[in-house]
Amino acid sequence: MDKSATAKQDEWQNRSLSHPGELHDTRDTSSKLNWLRAGVLGANDGIVSVAGTIIGVAGADSNPRSLLVAGLAGLAALAAGSFSMAGGEYVSVSAQRDTERGLLDKERWELENLPVEELDELAHIYEAKGISANTSRRAAFEAMQYDALRAHATDELGINPDELTSPWQAAYSSFLSFVSGGIIPMLFSLIPVSFPLRVFLIVLSVAIALLITGSISARIGGAALGKAILRNVLMGLSTMLFAWLIGMAFGIHG
Ligand SMILES: [Zn+2]
Repeated sequence: MDKSATAKQDEWQNRSLSHPGELHDTRDTSSKLNWLRAGVLGANDGIVSVAGTIIGVAGADSNPRSLLVAGLAGLAALAAGSFSMAGGEYVSVSAQRDTERGLLDKERWELENLPVEELDELAHIYEAKGISANTSRRAAFEAMQYDALRAHATDELGINPDELTSPWQAAYSSFLSFVSGGIIPMLFSLIPVSFPLRVFLIVLSVAIALLITGSISARIGGAALGKAILRNVLMGLSTMLFAWLIGMAFGIHG
C-alpha cells in the first residue's frame, strides 16, 4: 500500500469514528422520505377520487345531500381499495417471506454442517468486491464470529432479516393518507351555500390541495416545481370535468 492510500485510509477511519451514526442516519432519512412520498401520493389520490365522485354526482343531481352521500361513498371506496391492495400485498409478501425463510433455513444448516466451506464462501464474496484475500478472510471470520447467519444472509443472499415489511402497516398508512386527502372535497361539499357556489368551492379547494401536494412531491423528487404543480392541478381539474360530464350524461335533472 503506498503512502497516499494509507493516508486516505486514516482519513476515512477518522471520519467514520467521528460520525459513527452517519450511515444509519442516511438510510433513516431516505426511508422517511419514502414514507412522505407515499403519503403525499396517497393524499393526492384521495383528493382526486373523492372530488371526482362528488363532482360526478353533482353533474347528475343538484340536491346538496347527494354530495355528502357521494363524498362518503368515495371515502368508503378508498377504504375498500386500500384493504384490497393490502390483501394482494399480503399474498406477495408472504410468498417472498416463505422463500426467504427457506433460504435462511438452508443457510443455517450449511453453517452448522459445513463451517469451513461457508467461511471460504464468504471470503470469496468479499474478494469479488475487490478486497484482498487476507483481509477478506479476516473480515469473513470476524463477521461470522459476530453473527454468522446475518453475515451470510446479507452478503450472500442479499436478505436483511431486520427489514421485513408489514403489508398491514402499508394498508393502514395508505388508508390514512387517502382519507386525509379525500376529506378535503367532502368537507367543502358540506358548506351551506347555493349549489353552484358549493360546486365551485369544491373545485377550488381541490385545485389548492393539489397545488400543495404537487409542490411537496416535486420538492421530494427534485422535479421542476412549476411544471409539476401545473400537471398535478390540470390532472385533477380534468378528472373533475370528466366526472361532471359523465354525471350530466346519466343525470336526473329535469
Ligand atoms: Zn453461506
